[in-house]
Amino acid sequence: MSEQKFDVIVIGGGPAGYVAAIRAGQLGLKAACIDAFEGKDGKQALGGTCLNVGCIPSKALLDSSRQFENVTSHFDAHGISTKDAKIDVKTMVGRKDKIVKQFTGGIGMLFKSNKVTSFFGTGKLLAGNKVEVTGKDGSTQTLEAVNVILATGSVPVELPFAKFDGKLIVDNAGALDFDKTPKRLGVIGAGVIGLELGSVWRRLGAEVTVIEAMPDFLAAADQDIAKVAAREFKKQGLDIHLGAKVSKAEAKKTTVEVTYEDKNGEQKLTVDKLLVAVGRRAYTEGLLGDGTGVKTDERGRIEVDEHCWTGVDGVWAIGDCVRGPMLAHKGSEEGVMVAELIAGKAGHVDYDTIPWVIYTEPEVAWAGKTEQQCKDEGIPYKTGNFPFSAIGRAVAMNDTAGQVKVIAHAETDRLLGVHMVGPCVSELIAEAVVAMEFKGSAEDLARIVHAHPTLSEAVHEAALSVDKRAIHKA
Ligand code: FAD
Repeated sequence: MSEQKFDVIVIGGGPAGYVAAIRAGQLGLKAACIDAFEGKDGKQALGGTCLNVGCIPSKALLDSSRQFENVTSHFDAHGISTKDAKIDVKTMVGRKDKIVKQFTGGIGMLFKSNKVTSFFGTGKLLAGNKVEVTGKDGSTQTLEAVNVILATGSVPVELPFAKFDGKLIVDNAGALDFDKTPKRLGVIGAGVIGLELGSVWRRLGAEVTVIEAMPDFLAAADQDIAKVAAREFKKQGLDIHLGAKVSKAEAKKTTVEVTYEDKNGEQKLTVDKLLVAVGRRAYTEGLLGDGTGVKTDERGRIEVDEHCWTGVDGVWAIGDCVRGPMLAHKGSEEGVMVAELIAGKAGHVDYDTIPWVIYTEPEVAWAGKTEQQCKDEGIPYKTGNFPFSAIGRAVAMNDTAGQVKVIAHAETDRLLGVHMVGPCVSELIAEAVVAMEFKGSAEDLARIVHAHPTLSEAVHEAALSVDKRAIHKA
């Protein structure tokens, strides 16, 4: 095989693409990964949206702002007095940048240890499984591959009447890099990104107004859980307007004038920064050369089957640029699956047990079907709920908002969905995912010994509650 010929070339080095490349390397395949993302220093920054401007930096800021809010609002209850606590936003953002650099650099090292060749540039699939790489300086080279994996991810949706200017009207990347806390922050979109980043800046003192076009809050979540989350976010001061459609956002000198319509007619809002977080779209610009045979759907996503195969010999696509939830772990598992299939192994992804998490306070997490989905699909079901307010560990932590809800099949008892809002549910959901992956029942969860006192007892009690035998419930 010549220097420029590979078993696998991955275009895109986000959590879908870089994981596919590493797994291919582990399996003894000659792998390459092409990525165009440029870090703040102008150098290649592997890891895509997730590591650079998504999952990791948002969690870094969520943690800093959570610590600040604990000091300013919650320590008193423990008898700890902290007068005049201050936050230095530049230090906070600097810490986030360091974490990002540590992880993006780490992927380069993983590539080396797995013999993955890394190219910094833009990849384009040509007919016959060739890939053209255009470097930053405009120079091009053509590589050959037996298999090509397309993993070009997604970009934020831009509203034509609220175009990003990177200063006053920003996307997720902009909202991760404010140099000071805006006095008034507007957020269009009450989805995961809007709620997480809205929470960060609210905790640091911003007045945050969230404008959401949908009439229901967190429409994809189980509505019992969404109601608790909405109540808690409102208590914290997130001003959430549902059924409100923005028609205009005009950047003035230092403020943004937002016009929206709700059930009371036209409304105006003036903010100092506006975050537009109305979703993301698959990114495939300039990716597909003539005659490749790869198709995209009406939403611009690359068409694939359940194994992420595009229907073209040796061409696969994974992650945010294909159907399914736009989640890092979903893309990574698709990357592993495809690398294993290429190596002649039996890769698979169970799309029914992918966990969803929102890293607010309280956190929201779920896997499987909601109660509404069970109703719509005519599945007979039973439910069990248990509140964190009756869990000793949650009370000791002073963190009692929320509950766990277990949905099981009414006849077979098989777990259909597990939904949570409360402390540390981003971690607790893993137990539900394991149980569901092993086709477990509510009875299985109920019979497992859970350590006392832990938050996981809420999962245990909710499972017991499915058959009305929770111990600590009147
Ligand atoms: P991406 O991460 O978008 O990576 C694609 C890469 O391909 C990019 O580096 C891009 O520059 C590169 N590229 C594109 N075209 C080309 C080309 N032609 N040639 C070379 N390179 C190219 N998900 C979670 O699961 N948990 C979270 O907590 C979470 N938090 C998030 C917070 C925010 C603020 C945002 C914006 C997203 C968050 N996500 C989260 C979503 C997650 O980031 C994405 O689902 C994930 O990054 C998708 O991975 P990917 O590899 O498919 O694409």
